[in-house]
Amino acid sequence: MSEPIADQLENDDLQRFRNDFRRAVLMHRKGRLALFYHLHFPLADPLFGEGKKIVEQLDFRQWLTEPLVEEISRHRVYRDLVAKQERVLRLVQKTLASVAHAPLSPEPLARLLRAMHEFDRIADRLDSGITISLTDIDELTGLLNRAAMQRDLDRARAQARRTGRSFTVAMVDVDHFKKVNDEYGHVFGDVCLETLAERFVESIRPRDQVYRYGGEEFLVLLPDTPLTTAQPVLDRLRRRAYERPVSDGKISIDLFVSVGAAETAGGEEPETVIDRADAALYRAKKTGRNRLELDHGAKEQTPAGKTGDQS
Ligand code: GH3
Ligand code: MG
Ligand code: MG
Repeated sequence: MSEPIADQLENDDLQRFRNDFRRAVLMHRKGRLALFYHLHFPLADPLFGEGKKIVEQLDFRQWLTEPLVEEISRHRVYRDLVAKQERVLRLVQKTLASVAHAPLSPEPLARLLRAMHEFDRIADRLDSGITISLTDIDELTGLLNRAAMQRDLDRARAQARRTGRSFTVAMVDVDHFKKVNDEYGHVFGDVCLETLAERFVESIRPRDQVYRYGGEEFLVLLPDTPLTTAQPVLDRLRRRAYERPVSDGKISIDLFVSVGAAETAGGEEPETVIDRADAALYRAKKTGRNRLELDHGAKEQTPAGKTGDQS
């Protein structure tokens, strides 16, 4: 599955980098044509002159015209791509050297083609990771947005139907957030949302996901997790919100959140589960805020019965 590559970048910078990267990969691939031509018609002295030029052309980095974005250069997928390319370049040098005095044999050629295929696979992953960052990321908080949420909910639902194990959806809403904006201004309000988003992400398990649902509302998806297992995770998230005050260096306030959660085995539309989580959230607000309320409404029957509670 693809993952976002650069959450902190402005979309303009990312868009520019993606175009540049695509062009650089095309130039790299064009270099392969020259390579295969010369593997067929070997050079006298392969690692000088033309042969050296071929090896150079295969380095996609030299075709990048935009400054390489720091956040991307540090990313695991980018570093992996560079490693794959280094392997390609090593094999190319070896193969060019070998064809200078003997016909090309199938083994090294197969190795080279495999290495190139690996490079292409990782280049595609980087490309789609950048695309996800462009379309699925909420700019303020860096969280996944609703488009990504919709897709992941559908996936969690399909998984639940397949396995018969439930998943949990939680709605999180900041308490009295309007007052924060009114008293300290919208800019500080934004700082609060960014800080809370970070704390939410820190408090959940690796397979869970937090989305910006809209405004000061967040949705937490806990795949393959019944409500009883979700409860301590969501309670930790709720407590994490007020563990320390939120501060921009000048203003410092305590913030609280209310949470409503519902589980489903996938027999209903995601919107229906969200509605039940929302109703639980409403109860959390009514009964004093800074609370977690669970939806204990009629549980659907699933073909796999109660196996969902065993994980
Ligand atoms: P409750 O405890 O009942 O949830 O009270 P509340 O004040 O949080 O509820 P309400 O929904 O009335 O207010 C939500 C506020 O969130 C209103 C809006 O100004 C603020 N808000 C929504 N999106 C943003 C945003 O992106 N940035 C900032 N700073 N504020 C936002
Ligand atoms: Mg609200
Ligand atoms: Mg609110």
